[in-house]
Amino acid sequence: MDGTFNENDISHIVEADKAHVWHHLIQHKPFETNDPRIILEGKGMRVWDQNGKEYLDAVSGGVWTVNVGYGRESIAKAVYDQLMKLCYFAQTGGSIPGSLFAEKLIDKMPGMSRVYYTNSGSEANEKVFKMVRQIAHKRYGGKKHKILYRDRDYHGGTLATMSAGGQDERVMQYGPLAPGFVRVPHCMEYRAQWDLTGEEYGRRAADAIEEVILAEGADTVGALCLEPVTAGGGVITPPPGYWERVQEICRKYDILLHIDEVVCGIGRTGTWFGYQHYGIKPDFVTMAKGVASGYAAIACCVTTEEVFDLFKDNAEDPLNYFRDISTFGGCTAGPAAALENMRIIEDENLLDNCTSMGDRMMGNLEALMEKHRIIGDVRGKGLFLGAELVADRKTKEPVPEKTIAQVSAECAAQGVIIGSSNRSVPGLNNVLCFSPALIATADDIDQITDAVDVALTRVYG
Ligand code: PMP
Repeated sequence: MDGTFNENDISHIVEADKAHVWHHLIQHKPFETNDPRIILEGKGMRVWDQNGKEYLDAVSGGVWTVNVGYGRESIAKAVYDQLMKLCYFAQTGGSIPGSLFAEKLIDKMPGMSRVYYTNSGSEANEKVFKMVRQIAHKRYGGKKHKILYRDRDYHGGTLATMSAGGQDERVMQYGPLAPGFVRVPHCMEYRAQWDLTGEEYGRRAADAIEEVILAEGADTVGALCLEPVTAGGGVITPPPGYWERVQEICRKYDILLHIDEVVCGIGRTGTWFGYQHYGIKPDFVTMAKGVASGYAAIACCVTTEEVFDLFKDNAEDPLNYFRDISTFGGCTAGPAAALENMRIIEDENLLDNCTSMGDRMMGNLEALMEKHRIIGDVRGKGLFLGAELVADRKTKEPVPEKTIAQVSAECAAQGVIIGSSNRSVPGLNNVLCFSPALIATADDIDQITDAVDVALTRVYG
């Protein structure tokens, strides 16, 4: 740490937090006796907390966001320069970084054409849901309006995105939900639902989507929304053959394919977008976290010229365009940061680094799996990896919920912050998550997996 803070400043910050901040995604009772961890600074792969303790951040800001690492002066400068020129103007008009980032982004997304700016992943997904509904009204008398989503996938915390939420534990207390969202089965081979393997399994899991479409009536289904690799639901990589069949099914029934790249987008899996591993042609792609690596809030909903054109016909009809706005979609800091973020990824060859460091980490995790019987499965792509912990490899019974917290705490004690996926209500997943910044070195990767090795030994002997 650079010594900017003295002890009084720090205890004031902690007290103010404990008195007034409602943190995300956690139970606050423990803070009656313990202090929350407050991160004061970050540089590269590392962050420092209020006690001056240094951590290697193996989850890029906790939730897979800071893809290019902390303390990037060139991004801060690009944002500063842009804010001094023009901080904001509603996206009913245009802006310099808005134009230039859209051009650069589309250059990486063959087949896609238009960028709609918003400010969170949830909101970007909701924009797609609205577009799909409007298309249903324009072309199909409102009938083809249903949106399919997959068990274990997550698309956000707003009511509509929760209605498309495949993790029951994050949804069940918040009903009634929005109508018109229908669940399809997950595709996770480790927790197999069919007695098949490899490509046969992948095709069967996709066929299950077709079964849902037929049961609902294909003329009622407008879109299918999927994560390329399921993130918070347990780092679920699709089996071979899955995506090819998904694409066939969407074409066969005239169903728009929406890929939620909020986590995988902008390099996390070693390609610009996760879907690009599988040769898919989506109709919508949404992205958020890595777009500006957290240096500014920005999310995008990207679509094709064919979809865009649907909102241009009958110009004299006042209801015929996309009647939607996102106020902060007009903040120029977002695209200014995003442009510089992308330049860094290109100039520093971070996609290649992501692939090679991801391979190294996968190798390390496989070695840990040989050593620790508690690891039932390791999976992932690029620098987006997970290790599922089970009490018994044969029955695949998940370890108790507190285990993940113990392993994470043991890693933190060694100066490594790791993540975890939520435990689902029926006890499906219990997964340690790893998503270090794309700048990770071999030493960083080894430090992370060494910490996990020690933590598993301490917790399980
Ligand atoms: N989609 C996915 C796949 C996500 O993981 C998340 C956030 N974890 C979201 C959407 C929602 O993004 P936000 O929190 O920015 O609304």
